[in-house]
Amino acid sequence: MKHKAHYAKQAQIFVPRETRIQISVPRETYCFRTNPSDTFQKRLGDFLARVIAIANQKGGVGKTTTAVNLGASLAVSEKKTLIIDSDPQANTTSSLGFAKDPSRRTLYQGIILGEPFERLIIDAQIDGLDLIPSDKNLVGAAVELVGMENREFRLRDATLGLRQKYEFILIDCPPTLDLLTVNALAASDAVLVPIQCEYLAIEGVSELLDTLMRLRRTINPTLEIEGILLTMYDDRTTLSKQVAADLRSFFGDKVFETVIPRNVRLAEAPSHGMPVIFYDIHSKGAESYIQLAKEVVSNVQKRVGQGAERPDQGAGSSAAGAASAATAGAGLGRSGSGGGGGTGSDTQ
Ligand code: ATP
Ligand code: MG
Repeated sequence: MKHKAHYAKQAQIFVPRETRIQISVPRETYCFRTNPSDTFQKRLGDFLARVIAIANQKGGVGKTTTAVNLGASLAVSEKKTLIIDSDPQANTTSSLGFAKDPSRRTLYQGIILGEPFERLIIDAQIDGLDLIPSDKNLVGAAVELVGMENREFRLRDATLGLRQKYEFILIDCPPTLDLLTVNALAASDAVLVPIQCEYLAIEGVSELLDTLMRLRRTINPTLEIEGILLTMYDDRTTLSKQVAADLRSFFGDKVFETVIPRNVRLAEAPSHGMPVIFYDIHSKGAESYIQLAKEVVSNVQKRVGQGAERPDQGAGSSAAGAASAATAGAGLGRSGSGGGGGTGSDTQ
């Protein structure tokens, strides 16, 4: 079995504790309300995971790279995280160092055969990071689900119990809008959309957001946009800059301030079976995903702040209430909105 020390040795690096990201979140912020009507309400101090689907029906935009590296960055900042690999390509599973193994239980057993998800979880050999792996059997799952009862909500129902054990659950989706992705979006509090900085990017995102709006009306009325993430940004090209500027002016604070640069270390790390922070902590790729983890955690804090000012809590709440009503009226609200609209390529 691989071990963190093994990773460090293999990559000739060591991640000293002081280089870990310093994200300090008061313990009480772990307990935030994801859905007021949910009976699944935890008392102060317990975990209650924020479940984030990483989705875009377009292939090769950085979904898996984001699941693996955001997951690892959250884990090293002591945010207990589970990554669910919901893509039959199983790239997240292999990027974390798990070779194909027909005897390993995967998401297929959970979602189709009803095996308890606790039995599918494996230790990703990084403190605070667990994985529910995938394998090619999941290709069949998308088809088998069609005839099953409760077919859109099987992942949601199975993951409810896991929310108590983690602070973040990330779901890596396949590049399709099939029933696996629908299950992921039904199970999630929010969706993170990686977008490659290329021509026609806006058109692609607009279509995706339309689809998300429809899903919100039908399967998950509380689904939010965690953020649109600009990936593979190349600050030497005018195209990247132009696309990033257009996306920001079009989608405003729905776009993360953090930008993921095109970085060879990010592309190399999966073949070594490790997240980039263990492969090359000093790379731009590692820095950018650490920055993204900070932004995601900070959004949770902002949500908690907004929750504290709900209209039912009396005076002082009108501005926040009006703002959230306006956001809801405009469609999918961005979690922790108000922090975005940043400076563009400042992480480059
Ligand atoms: P799919 O839709 O097939 O699941 P995906 O959206 O998950 O793809 P990735 O697998 O994360 O996309 O990335 C596609 C390819 O681009 C991979 O080879 C990956 O290593 C590489 N890649 C992703 N992000 C970056 C980056 N920022 N810099 C350089 N290479 C990257
Ligand atoms: Mg992928």
